Amino acid sequence: MTMQRTFSIIKPDATRRNLTGAINSKIEASGLRIIAQKRIHMSDREAREFYAVHADRPFYNDLVSFMTSGPVVVQVLEGQNAIAAYREVMGSTNPSDAADGTIRKEFAEGIEANSVHGSDSIENAAIEIAYFFTNEEIVG
Ligand code: GDP
Repeated sequence: MTMQRTFSIIKPDATRRNLTGAINSKIEASGLRIIAQKRIHMSDREAREFYAVHADRPFYNDLVSFMTSGPVVVQVLEGQNAIAAYREVMGSTNPSDAADGTIRKEFAEGIEANSVHGSDSIENAAIEIAYFFTNEEIVG
């Protein structure tokens, strides 16, 4: 078991439906701690850079439009094996494949508007956290 930090986004479909607290309840119930948090409206440039890995996918422009369509809540989560643990709490990308009790199963509207983001590796967690937070904003 390793103490890790991961990066989380509560996406615009969830903030629009007032689900920030419900989602964070599931995160905290899993044992993960929210050690940094802010509500922002992502710029087009931020969304494009954040999802640059998907730039060649057919859904890239739609995804950028969706992520800039309303406020998001960006967070840093900390806990034992936080990266895998949070992916488990989130559930599969497509909510119809997500396990019962996961955030995406319970709240996602579809494969794109799937309520949450979570880092998929130690390397990406570090890059994503640094993209949105300074060290002073992270209070463990
Ligand atoms: P994640 O790590 O589970 O978020 O999944 P990915 O890294 O594969 O995809 C990033 C995000 O792109 C997903 O969370 C969805 O919001 C969106 N996405 C993924 N696959 C599709 C797709 O086939 N169609 C559309 N419209 N959006 C997708």
